Amino acid sequence: MGAPIAVDHVLSVDDWMTGSAAAIEAEADHLTQLDSAIGDGDHGINMTRGMRAVTAALDDADEPAPGKRLILAGKTLVSTVGGASGPLWGSALRRAGRSVGDGALDGPGLVAALDAALAAVQELGAAEPGDKTMVDALGPAVAALRERLDAGDALGDALAAAADAADEGARATTPMQARKGRASYLGERSVGHQDPGATSTALIIRALGGALVTPG
Ligand code: ADP
Ligand code: MG
Repeated sequence: MGAPIAVDHVLSVDDWMTGSAAAIEAEADHLTQLDSAIGDGDHGINMTRGMRAVTAALDDADEPAPGKRLILAGKTLVSTVGGASGPLWGSALRRAGRSVGDGALDGPGLVAALDAALAAVQELGAAEPGDKTMVDALGPAVAALRERLDAGDALGDALAAAADAADEGARATTPMQARKGRASYLGERSVGHQDPGATSTALIIRALGGALVTPG
């Protein structure tokens, strides 16, 4: 057995979005259940509709640049999802796309893009960590990804760590009291339920691991 050959992987925007759409569709009932407990019960439907529209828009688009494809995905989410999650994830993907620009979506490019996405969500929604929102899944995911890549991990391993961090972050929203979004109207009654947006965010982060491709 020879030494493993080092291969530089990049992310396929289309594979990421297709994988996210499939995961969200498979979990749509669960997401709706979570949103029924502390919101208005539309999160599974919102995200399913949005992600289906994203994959359809990408299928129709000739533009090859990953940055542009992310911007298209974001615009599509904003225009197809009525709930808070549409504009939030939509802005996140648009900003991620602008961050990628004409560059490649490789490890460092992805860290910068997800950082930009997190900043966009926080600018638009003004949520801080601990407010029981998607920020509580996205924040730890970006931090874990950066940490593991800085430590020299392969992108696939770093993505697995980011997905675990997002899952853990989503689970950690259960004991929190919501301070942003519809769930905040419930005050203390929002405690004891996992946040739907953090849960779908963890699915979207997990889907990155299935979107690794070899450039060429
Ligand atoms: P709506 O609340 O309008 O029905 P969704 O049900 O699709 O929209 O999405 C709800 C999710 O959106 C929440 O679980 C939360 O994670 C996220 N969210 C709501 N408001 C904010 C905010 N201000 N900042 C970050 N995320 C938010
Ligand atoms: Mg809702």
